[in-house]
Order: sequence, then structure tokens, then C-alpha cells
Amino acid sequence: MNKINSVCPYCGAGCKINLCVENGKIIKAEGANGVTNQGELCLKGLYGWDFLNDNKLLTARLHEPMIRRQKGADFEIVSWDEAIRFTAQKLQEIKAQYGAKAIMCTGSSRGTGNETNFVMQKFARAVLGNNNVDCCARVCHGPSVAGLQETLGNGAMSNSIADIEDSDCLFVFGYNCADSHPIVARRVIKAKQKGAKIVVCDPRKIETAKIADQYLPLKNGTNMALVNAFAYTLIDEELYDKNYVNQYTEGFEEYKKQLENYSPENVQEIVGIPAIEIRKAMRTYANAKTATIMWGMGVTQFGQAVDVVKGLSGLALLTGNLGKPHVGVAPVRGQNNVQGACDMGVLPNMFPGYQSVTDEGIRSKFASEWNIPFEQLDPEVGYRITEVPHLAIEGKVKAYYIMGEDPLQTEADLSLVRKGFEALDFVVVQDIFMTKTAEQADVILPSTSWGEHGGIFTCADRGFQRFEKAIDAKGNVKRDWEIISLLATEMGYPMSYASNEEIWDEVRRLCPLFFGATYKKLEGLAHIQWPCTDIDSEGTPYLYSGNQFNTPSGKGKLFATQWRPPAELPDNDYPMILSTVREVGHYSCRSMTGNCKALASLADEPGYVQMHPTIAKKAGIRDQEIVWVESRRGKVMSRCNINETINEQAIYMTYQWWIGACNELTQDNLDPISKTPETKYCAAKVTKI
Ligand code: SF4
Repeated sequence: MNKINSVCPYCGAGCKINLCVENGKIIKAEGANGVTNQGELCLKGLYGWDFLNDNKLLTARLHEPMIRRQKGADFEIVSWDEAIRFTAQKLQEIKAQYGAKAIMCTGSSRGTGNETNFVMQKFARAVLGNNNVDCCARVCHGPSVAGLQETLGNGAMSNSIADIEDSDCLFVFGYNCADSHPIVARRVIKAKQKGAKIVVCDPRKIETAKIADQYLPLKNGTNMALVNAFAYTLIDEELYDKNYVNQYTEGFEEYKKQLENYSPENVQEIVGIPAIEIRKAMRTYANAKTATIMWGMGVTQFGQAVDVVKGLSGLALLTGNLGKPHVGVAPVRGQNNVQGACDMGVLPNMFPGYQSVTDEGIRSKFASEWNIPFEQLDPEVGYRITEVPHLAIEGKVKAYYIMGEDPLQTEADLSLVRKGFEALDFVVVQDIFMTKTAEQADVILPSTSWGEHGGIFTCADRGFQRFEKAIDAKGNVKRDWEIISLLATEMGYPMSYASNEEIWDEVRRLCPLFFGATYKKLEGLAHIQWPCTDIDSEGTPYLYSGNQFNTPSGKGKLFATQWRPPAELPDNDYPMILSTVREVGHYSCRSMTGNCKALASLADEPGYVQMHPTIAKKAGIRDQEIVWVESRRGKVMSRCNINETINEQAIYMTYQWWIGACNELTQDNLDPISKTPETKYCAAKVTKI
């Protein structure tokens, strides 16, 4: 039996795994002693690999390139040569007829790796000539990137996953780590065992709330009001660090003014938490020697999410909880390589290494390395994936090249997304499974999976980690970056790479932030957090050392603004609030975990809707009964899960089920800055079938 060094392909915790291989098959996975997981794995890491053995009876794995010669025709299996020729010709026709901006691409935040994401954004920029490349960060932690970039100068977690357990106070806001990142939840438990105070803000009494010293069950959609009341309290009770604020921050007077009406006593009705509890929480946070704020999608999937992220960073700035060990801001990124996709420039406004597309000097550097004329690099910020349905309906986007994403399952308001897809002339899907989106494609380009190739992922704490190939792929599939290179070459830009390392060296040459993280250094269990600028550096465990922020002034920006209620409030017709949530046994669109026998047996269609017992009783609905869930945009069937840990006003659904797809119900009210949809709040109702 061979043990192959890998990294779990599911959440951003970045757990190191040994894939155990015998006779060309994976026979089990076991936890390796990685920096973030210390030998532990959750059930997805332990059992989420059986699709790699490719029992065709169980999986919807893609094995051959396929095209539809006309719209509405059946898929036809073709050779790779023909699939590449067909795709390149269609993309060139669309570019010639409608211009470069008519084509949109996605990278993938899943198991493909940093090298592929780098090559995909290079394809968009150097071959197509636009910045229309984006990833699912847009629908999850996009607001964390935008908000933290503005106030602190880096859009990522300030410290590390390992560091969490040594913090004296964990302030957990809108983050259900037990379901979304079980190995991070383990760090929270360890922190508690070491004596840390835990404060949890969440409308549901999530698992972490059960071990918390204080639980604040805020009303759904009131995050900004509560964060403002926290900041008000820190100033009002003089709990903030005056010296730190004077020396290292800017904007205090305006900040204070914005907070004037947010005394805990004023906002207690709005947020549903007594003023005394709000004040108590801030005393705990401010009086801890070291404190960390952790958040998840309970913060980011709202129409005012960027403002709330800036508000949370303000709490850390007010108390000086930045720039040293065991403190900081921790937006724990969702999918295993969503941090990496952002690092590699799968963003419409940034080249790899967070270098702006609007900066002439940066464009010049990339044009020179890529051997293209400077004018070929678009100086304008590109489109975001959440804008694509609207742009397609308006006729501005005509072709969509989607790699390892499933927007027809994961995007808000699926009837709108379907209309967008119907308006497109050409859709290319590069994936490992027949997803909802792949079913609608004109071309399917089947790729190798995690386990069948190696590469580098970046976990949620900026840590680069290498994973190796464990087994050979069985179908007529190719590595993602090889497919993109073949397409680029067919379109007149010769591109070829011999190895992951060759691509990574190009990344390092172009990105000062990553230059010191060589392939060699990343061997085995290594975990190197960027910035890693020098060849001798071992990376940066915490950002903002010396309280130097990466903002234009070098100071942290304090920011507060007025609370706005969510866009669609409950009414007589739709009296409940619908919020999307996570589920421990499955991940993202479920294309991978839903094709794992062990994980599928734990939870299966038609998903569930969580309801409070009082509300279910009034409606005469029993536990496990199949019900209708309806919003202004659609109606789906789901299984009722009566759950007394949730609040009475809201119902909760996970978004990955094919039957009971809750994105039929969600709405695409977007945050004005990050363009992230408000999937944590819309009006809905539940009725008996
Ligand atoms: Fe670790 Fe996340 Fe994988 Fe679970 S899903 S093993 S927590 S990386």
C-alpha cells in the first residue's frame, strides 16, 4: 500500500490527508499531521474520495469530450482534437462578432489547484483580451476580500487556523464552523478547553453557541446595527485602546459620528438582544488579552455585507487586536481553494498576487512576461459571475466558459440564471461530473480530478500546501491546464507547460507576494503562508506586524455606516424569512460529495427545510413531512426538519439539493460593492402538500 500526500478537496481548513493506494485504487484516507489538522479529519475528508475509483454505476463522472453541433441537439462524443477545434472556432467567431468582452470565464475554487487557476486567468487576459474571469468567492467571501482590503489592506485572514486555539477570546459572528469547517471547530473547542471566552452571535443556536460563554441570538438581517452597537459600546465605556487608535488608525471622528444613534439601548429592539448583553459581550472582547473575530457567510451573504466586514475590522482596530499572535480577523474561506483562486487572479479586478488590472505598470509587467502587446491587456475591471445572467439577457455576454463551477445550482434566483443561460450563444463546461450546468452546455471538456493530479492549494489562512497525484485517471480526460493550453494554442496563442512547477515558477516570477514559496519548499507537510517574498522566508504567520497596514496611509481605516434592512421583508403572503445554511455531510453544489457512496448514504434528496416547532405546529406540519417551500421566485419540495435550535421567524435550507433546490427561492439583491447576493434573507412560506 502506498500513502500519497494530499490535501482534502472540500473545505478551506486545508486538512492534510494520506490517500492510501493499492492496485491503482484508493482503499482509504487517513489524516496526516498537517499544520491545520494535526492528523484529524472530518467525515468528508475520511470518506469523500470513493468516486475516484470510478464505479460508473455510482457516479456521474465525465469520461469523454462531447459537443452539441446545434442548439438543442444531443451530445455527441468526439475526439479531443475536434472538441478543441470546435470550441476555439466558436469563441473566435463570438469575439470577432461581439468583441472580447462578450466572453466570460470562471476559475474553480475546488480541487483543480492554483496552477490551473493561473492558466485560466491568463487565457482570459492574454488570449481573449478581457478581465472577465471570476470564481465562487463572489457568492461567499467576496465581501470579506473587499471590506478587509479597504480597511486593513489585505483581503485575507490575518493570522492562522492553528493560532485560533491560543486566543483568549473568540468572537464568532455568523459562522457555523461545526458544519462548514469541522476541523476549525475543533480549534474552537480546544481554545475553550484552554480557558478562552467564547461569544457567539447567530440567529440559530448552532453547535458553537452551545459551548459559548455568551450567546447573542440576533434577529436575521440586523448585522450592521449590532456591529455598530458593539463599536458604540467600546467607545462609550472607554474599552478601546486610545493609544493604538491614535497611532495606527484613521477616521475616528467620522466613525464616532456615524455611531451616534447606535447605543445598545437604541438598537436592542432592532437586533433582538438586550442592551445589557451587547455591553457584556464587548467587555469580554475588549478585556481579553488577545481576541480573534471569526465570521462566515452569516456575515457575507447580505446586501450590506462589505459594510459589516469593515465594521468588524473596526472592532479589532479599536482594541488593538491585530499585528501579533493569537488575535485578528478570521473570515474562514469556504471551499478548499477559494483563497487560492483569488490568489491566482481569478478576479475581474486583480492579476495574480493582488495586482490591480487598472495599474499600467502591472499590465506592462504581465504583457512582457506573456509576450503579448501591452494594448492587449484590458485596462478595465471585468464582469462578476453574479452579473452574468443580467448581461446575457441584455446581449452583452454571449459565451460562458465555466471550469469546475455549477452556477445552475449555486447561484441565487435560478429562474433568472436559467433565463441568462437561455440567452447565451455558447456554453463550455470543463468539469469532472455531469452537473446541472454541464447538462445545458454546448461543449463538455472532461478533466482529471483531485487525486488524479497534483498541485498547490491555498487554505483559508493563506497557507500554500502541495498535494500529489495518487492514481491514474481512467477516462479520456485531461488535466485542466492542459485543456486550456490546447484551446489557447488553437486560438493563435501558443501555450504549453510541462509541469505544475513550471507554471508555479511563472506565478512566482510575476507575484512578489509569493516569490519565496518555491515548489521544493512546499514538499511534504509544508504550509507556507503568504506573503513569502524572499527565497529564505518561511512565510508570514500573522499580518500587520508593527501595526503597519497595507492601506495608502499605512493606517487602519475605521469605518461605520447606517444599517439598511434587507431588501425583501416578510409580509402577509410570505411571512417567514428564508436563509441558506451549511450541512456537514455535503459540500458546495454536492457534485463531488453527492457522488460519494458513503456521504450520499448519510443525507440524500430531497434535502430539508428547518422549522421551529411552534411554527410547524401552527401549520399542522409534522417532522420529516414533505412540504412546499415557496417565495416570489419559485416553489420547491423539501422535507421538514423540526428544529428547536432555530428562531421562530426564519426557516433554513441548504442549497445543494437537486430536488428542493433552495436557490429557486433566493433572490439576487447584490451587495453594491462585492456584488454578492443576499442569500441569507428573503421572504418565503411553507405549506402542506
Ligand atoms: Fe478538513 Fe474541511 Fe476536509 Fe473536513 S472538509 S477534512 S474540515 S478540509
